[in-house]
Amino acid sequence: MKRSKFLFTEAQEILPGGVNSPVRAFSRVGGNPVYFKRGKGAYLYDEDNKAYIDYVGSWGPMIAGHAHPDVIHAVQEAAQNGLGFGAPTEIETQLAKKIQLHMPTMELMRMVNSGTEATMSALRVARGFTGRDKIVKFEGCYHGHSDGLLVKAGSGALTLGEPDSAGVPQQVAEQTLTLPFNDIEAAKILFSQLGEQVAAIIIEPVAGNMGMVMPVPGFLAELKRLCLDYGALLIFDEVMTGFRVGLKGAQGLFSVQPDLTTLGKVIGGGLPVGSFGGRRDIMECVAPLGPVYQAGTLSGNPIAMASGIATLSIIEKPDFFPDLQAQTSNFVKRLEVLARDRKVPLTANSIGGMFGFFFTSDNPVSNFSQVLNSNTSNFNAFFHHMLASGINLAPSPFESGFVSGAHTEQEFAATLDAADTAFKNI
Ligand SMILES: *Cc1c(COP(=O)(O)O)cnc(C)c1O
Repeated sequence: MKRSKFLFTEAQEILPGGVNSPVRAFSRVGGNPVYFKRGKGAYLYDEDNKAYIDYVGSWGPMIAGHAHPDVIHAVQEAAQNGLGFGAPTEIETQLAKKIQLHMPTMELMRMVNSGTEATMSALRVARGFTGRDKIVKFEGCYHGHSDGLLVKAGSGALTLGEPDSAGVPQQVAEQTLTLPFNDIEAAKILFSQLGEQVAAIIIEPVAGNMGMVMPVPGFLAELKRLCLDYGALLIFDEVMTGFRVGLKGAQGLFSVQPDLTTLGKVIGGGLPVGSFGGRRDIMECVAPLGPVYQAGTLSGNPIAMASGIATLSIIEKPDFFPDLQAQTSNFVKRLEVLARDRKVPLTANSIGGMFGFFFTSDNPVSNFSQVLNSNTSNFNAFFHHMLASGINLAPSPFESGFVSGAHTEQEFAATLDAADTAFKNI
């Protein structure tokens, strides 16, 4: 940690909190962030040459493992032809077609540079299409950092949005209504009062930004029903779940068709890519076809598209997701057993290559208030023990974990060994 400490001190002089994205600063768990200089397969190597088994995967994109040879090769090939032209290139259509093959609800889509851009743009399209202003989101769901989406819940189901961040105008926050995740009755009440003003419901179909929380059976389908009844649009924010919980995303797993979908993370394979798309009649509102303006100097960048296509080509192989799913679920089951044997209350869960665990005896954990009741000091102790043992987990109890195709039994066994010692010492 010597060099990481030095680098962090230096960074704090010039970057706010030393970082370019806040969770990286370790504020929630305390201590010093680790500076990595290299990744390969399931491993990261820090500036002091210590190796870590990685379960962050750059917060999701690295589903093929770090520096996968096919992805690096594709990026290098593309880079030789120039880094971008600001004009259409064939490769943008190729990535779009690959996405559509697995997510047929994406009838028309646009590429952007981040998940934040994708959700922000999808909401503008939903408002432009419906002529309505209000949007509905769920407590604990994260949809990027645009103004209207940085709104947390008040205590009641119908509380008007309070901004979650300084700098968000009250008038903007008020357009965002928040509901408890998995509470269909609260959603019905809200719609019975304000349904005709709602442009869209936006939801993470499997919540991954409050730890991992699964939708209760029927919840997503009921939201779809409500949207149909009231003329609102259903937006699945699959920035995390898309090509992560399965090849067809959460919409494929739960057989619910959203009107619009947002993607990011895996579709860029580690480079900055997002996308939003959906029903043709809705997406035809987007400029230059329609009146909803949306643009990007670097959107559809050829290097980023090449990285995305190479990554999707790896995970399209027929065995990829069945193997990833089996390995991930086996891993978290063993983790739960170890915790139980050490009398540490723990609930773990996984879907596809995504997992989460909470230090609580609640099972299942299905909403944000349960998440907040989990034992965060246990998490912090666990996190630091694991990090010291060379296991890189997200530095917050409110994040999901990610397994890649490069993780093997060797890495899982080493991780579980470290976890057993950590549970013993909690
Ligand atoms: C990561 C994430 C975003 C934001 O994407 P960025 O690329 O960080 O802007 C939006 N929605 C969900 C569900 C995410 O997980």
